[in-house]
Amino acid sequence: KSLPYFCRGEVIRGFGRGSKDLGIPTANFPDSVVEHLPADIGTGIYYGWACVGGGDVHKMVMSIGWNPYYKNTKKSMETHVIHTFKEDFYGEILSVVMVGYIRPERGFSSLDALITAIHSDIEEAERRLDLPEHRKLQEDNFFRTFP
Ligand code: ADP
Ligand code: MG
Repeated sequence: KSLPYFCRGEVIRGFGRGSKDLGIPTANFPDSVVEHLPADIGTGIYYGWACVGGGDVHKMVMSIGWNPYYKNTKKSMETHVIHTFKEDFYGEILSVVMVGYIRPERGFSSLDALITAIHSDIEEAERRLDLPEHRKLQEDNFFRTFP
């Protein structure tokens, strides 16, 4: 009901769980952005569009989950932009529109199983975002009204 959901915020440092080493870096939003999420956007994997600073709008997958670092009292939002960037973009403004839901959060028996699942999430996101009704959002004015 709250989708599509638009939001933006500064990219902050996560806890370096080595996502980048797995080839799947995830950009973290500050708590202020997470706290504004509507109640009906639950944990799980979402797909949508994302743009860094005033740059191009790329496909993305986002994980919303409970952060073990805070003893699972705080939700976190981590965005993997489906694009290869030349450099990290900590401190830049990340703008996203969450378009749809892929699956709930779940545990994995191995790191390999986790990586395989993320790659299939990325494929799913790529496929769904090619639908005309989702393509439109890539051109949304939200991405042009850079703060
Ligand atoms: P952290 O624990 O600090 O979030 P990660 O290993 O998850 O570390 O890497 C995330 C960082 O990598 C982002 O904050 C961003 O600066 C950079 N980065 C580079 N390419 C991407 C990408 N395609 N998607 C998301 N973040 C990326
Ligand atoms: Mg991360």
